[in-house]
Amino acid sequence: MSAVRALVTGATGQDGSYLVERLVADGVEVHALVRHDDGAALPDGVRRHRGDLTDGAGMAALVAEVGPAEIYNLGGLSSVALSWEQPALTAEVTGVAPGHLLKAAFELQERTGEPVRFVQASSAEIFGRTSGAAADEDTPIRPLTPYGAAKAYAHHVVGVYRARGLHASSCILFNHESPRRPETFVTRKITAGAARIARGQQQELAMGNLDPRRDWGWAPDYVAAMVLAARADEGRDYVVATGVSHSVREFVAAAFSAAGIDDWERYVTLDPRFARPSDAPDLVGDASRARELLGWAPSLGFEEIVARMVENDLGLLDAGQA
Ligand code: NAP
Repeated sequence: MSAVRALVTGATGQDGSYLVERLVADGVEVHALVRHDDGAALPDGVRRHRGDLTDGAGMAALVAEVGPAEIYNLGGLSSVALSWEQPALTAEVTGVAPGHLLKAAFELQERTGEPVRFVQASSAEIFGRTSGAAADEDTPIRPLTPYGAAKAYAHHVVGVYRARGLHASSCILFNHESPRRPETFVTRKITAGAARIARGQQQELAMGNLDPRRDWGWAPDYVAAMVLAARADEGRDYVVATGVSHSVREFVAAAFSAAGIDDWERYVTLDPRFARPSDAPDLVGDASRARELLGWAPSLGFEEIVARMVENDLGLLDAGQA
């Protein structure tokens, strides 16, 4: 039997790297879209295709050439903070570009008669304020950020192609973390900062708002949910979340504690330059559908996720690699 063939965009990102590893381990023939030929590490056997998501003709040619049974669209500008700096670029890459892949997937399916399964990495940011209730797939879409608005558009286009007969799923991912997060994200900034302070290499950690609450999960678990969505009987929307929220303050306290520092308040300063406009106060998700229909469940809790990130950052410092 020939291997399943999958096309992955965003393969060099946090989630894409875990997804590609997972698919290769499963024996899937993986084709990765990469933007630069700078040698970004991909597992052995992964076929690299250079291109940009915004190049509609290029994406059509790529999908026609590869002929994938599964397409995972994880590529995009993934930073809410950057979306305030570059709202139009975010709209183009994160919002509009998935339409190129959906159109190409639909046309491939029409032409070959073979089903093509499409999974979109959507985001909890499409919901904006959720009045404290856990968001599920029926929660109104009212984004508060340019990133959320772009993801909302892509989410709707996935639904449009699903209605035309494509097995298309939108995984509405709540925040998920790992040691592969860059320091431009607040979670890794906190764990790397706590590690450096613990080793005497940094004096203080400047933070924006400590009050927002987020539902933080473990990135490899969220990748597993996307694979399950691709393999499910039907394409659907799925909230992927732990159902538990913690404040940024709690994240800071957990990170310092994991680094062996109990009095974190001594080291953390508040700097309004790091506060984001329109931050949703509390994002928490209800993943009942993913649990029931996909058999999905998170494998790691909050404290363990933070501890693993800090452990990695301490290890990098001790090895002289940070
Ligand atoms: P990430 O680390 O920022 O990775 C983004 C990927 O997209 C990178 O591989 C990047 O390539 C690629 N990319 C950016 N612009 C591109 C373009 N114009 N053409 C082709 N590729 C492009 O993001 P992540 O954390 O892994 O997240 C994966 C997906 O899940 C993203 O769509 C993100 O918005 C979504 N999501 C993430 C979270 C989360 O908490 N992590 C939550 C909700 C949704 P380069 O390496 O060349 O930059």
